[in-house]
Amino acid sequence: MADDESESDLFVSSREPPPRALTQVSPMVRRLVAPNASPFTFNGTCTYIVGQDKVAIIDPGPDDDLHLSALLAAVEGEQVETILITHTHRDHSVGARKLRAATGAQVVGAAPFTPRGNGAAGLDSAHDRDYSPDTILADGERWQRAGFTIEAIATPGHCSNHLCFALLEENALFSGDHVMGWSTSIVAPPDGSMRAYMDSLDKLRGRPETIYWPGHGGPVLEPQRYLRALIHHRRQREASILNALAAGSQTIPALVARIYVGLNPALTRAAGLSTLAHLEDLAERGMVVGEAAASGEQRFRLA
Ligand SMILES: [Zn+2]
Repeated sequence: MADDESESDLFVSSREPPPRALTQVSPMVRRLVAPNASPFTFNGTCTYIVGQDKVAIIDPGPDDDLHLSALLAAVEGEQVETILITHTHRDHSVGARKLRAATGAQVVGAAPFTPRGNGAAGLDSAHDRDYSPDTILADGERWQRAGFTIEAIATPGHCSNHLCFALLEENALFSGDHVMGWSTSIVAPPDGSMRAYMDSLDKLRGRPETIYWPGHGGPVLEPQRYLRALIHHRRQREASILNALAAGSQTIPALVARIYVGLNPALTRAAGLSTLAHLEDLAERGMVVGEAAASGEQRFRLA
């Protein structure tokens, strides 16, 4: 899921929607884009097929029978051994259920979603509550199969159970919704955390992978440069919020109207959630205070 398409001019080359059809994108990787285009998913979820003959499928996507049959056709005559899941947002993991039933593959990767409170806040309702993996991969754990090795990298922030998967043989990273070229990621509390997201961006700095294959959109071709740009972008946003609050206390809708200029109206709520994520982080660092006004609305001011 994405935050704000107006910011995606960070790196113009990755903004092209990838072709929907099955595409061999590297010697070991094929990509098939699911038909679930939206302002949050670009032209759809990217499902990746890794290996040959005995393959792994990364993020089978939403519950969509057309996508499922296209995937099964793509791997006809091959054995799907593993279904890898980066995180449990419904546009990534729900398709695992029918794909597992059709192939007998093991579902491996992200831990199940654990709601806090009633699980209705933020984007928590976007999680797949029926997800039940056969194997949960911990940070640094490797999943070795004939011809390839996947290393899980815990990257919470976009959501708490997010994993990226490094494909060691190709020095490539499946970056899920943590790092995408077409847009910045949405970080929606309570499950999403800006502090965790920034730490997870930092975690990828200095890693050796030279290309990222994201959950939506085309590849990120200069990942280290792009990571620096993403970190810079978030610091700028934080500075804009602090600037706006210097003029007096503000509600989140007022901050969004001021900071997200030219925002697609469909993304207003998402932008509000990302702003809340920044405010929570600033509050934890003692820089901002939230308070309920008499009207019941939440206002924020400098500490
Ligand atoms: Zn997501």
